[in-house]
Amino acid sequence: MNAHDSEKVIGTLVSEGYRRVPTPEEAELVFYNTCSIRDKAEQKVFHRLDQFKRDGKGKTFAVLGCVAQQEGEKIFEKAPHVSMVCGSASYNQLPQMLVQLEAGNRRVTGLSLDTADTFETPMTRRDNPHRAYLTIIEGCDKACAYCVVPFTRGPERSRTSTSVLAETRQLAQMGYSEVQLLGQNVNSYRDPSAAGWDFAQLLDGVGRVEGIRRVRFTTSHPRDFVKPIVDAIEANEALCNHVHLPVQSGSTRILEAMRRLYTREDYLRTIGWMKASRRPIAITTDIIVGFPGESEEDFEATLGLLDEVEFDAIFGFKYSRRPNTSALALEDHISEEEKSRRLAIVQERQRAIQIRRNAEYVGRVEECLVEGFNKATGQWMGRTSQNKMLNFLHPAATDLTGQYRYVRVTRAGPNSLAGECVN
Ligand code: SAM
Ligand code: SF4
Repeated sequence: MNAHDSEKVIGTLVSEGYRRVPTPEEAELVFYNTCSIRDKAEQKVFHRLDQFKRDGKGKTFAVLGCVAQQEGEKIFEKAPHVSMVCGSASYNQLPQMLVQLEAGNRRVTGLSLDTADTFETPMTRRDNPHRAYLTIIEGCDKACAYCVVPFTRGPERSRTSTSVLAETRQLAQMGYSEVQLLGQNVNSYRDPSAAGWDFAQLLDGVGRVEGIRRVRFTTSHPRDFVKPIVDAIEANEALCNHVHLPVQSGSTRILEAMRRLYTREDYLRTIGWMKASRRPIAITTDIIVGFPGESEEDFEATLGLLDEVEFDAIFGFKYSRRPNTSALALEDHISEEEKSRRLAIVQERQRAIQIRRNAEYVGRVEECLVEGFNKATGQWMGRTSQNKMLNFLHPAATDLTGQYRYVRVTRAGPNSLAGECVN
């Protein structure tokens, strides 16, 4: 989502007459987009700002994104060489803020979260010529005890289905064949226009746009993930065989403490819909280890869930204390060493699952969207509908990037597959 925000911000700047340069060294105005989801990401921001200070004489600096929103004007104190601080809910104001900057104002801010608008611009500068990100909903109305997002991205705002479909058609005309719908919680999408579409209807609508061959979406919240989404995937070939459904923990007790609004059993019921589907839906998830109060038994429940679901991939994180969040007030915070130990166990357990799951692909033929060529290995890099990396050999002298190829899987590792092109 941050990467796509940057694409939209760049588009806005270009439409205001600015020109993009290849490196920060060449820039007069440096926009730095930031993430504060975990403490480590936030620390990186201040480290980088320090570096800019040393190397950036005569330049103007702007800090965007979640650290900007969270720290606000404190950034001017910590990094006095910064002239603008703007959170994502204020990106619509960027043109006016740029005028203030150009007028020599050295303390420009965009920090209001009180907005009903989404950030749309006709000038998005997409980096990938084949796969396009497309925001359908911004902000988050949930209140997970560990999460800073509701404080940094503001309340939920959905785009109209008409505007999402118009952008999808435009993307198809420009040659994009894959779109990835984005939101903190795409399942709570509600079309604000009279059509009143829900997420499953929007998904189906986008998948029916001529020229769009693949539709992905992220992120889904288990509480709002309803059966019609699986039905939509079954009914529409363009919707990819992949759902990212962050569970965070396998223990209902911890899920309750996290305020996730579902139990382990609720989650497993949803997984059951996908496993019962006639489409081979790959399922990936996020796991947080070491949430305050997580006992050995709770942790074992998470490991048990990994075994039961057999996810295709997971993103594992150590719990990180975030400002403003309700989990700060909880007792029994877990030590860093113990969090590291649990994360290593989770990753080891999952690695074995992925080796086993990926081995099942050997012998199968998968459709790949070619993402590029790896000179070091002499292989083309493809992405399957299930979002697996499939590297393959092909005698082509021409560039296959952006094309679709059928590939027979001959080898499997924990994180990728390898094979040979069959057409
Ligand atoms: N909205 C999505 C959801 O509810 O599943 C996730 C959004 S968040 C940007 C991505 C992931 O970061 C979460 O699923 C969670 O695993 C992780 N995360 C968020 N806050 C965290 C924290 N304080 N410590 C560790 N991991 C965190
Ligand atoms: Fe954060 Fe929870 Fe919202 Fe996801 S649903 S963005 S984890 S508060």
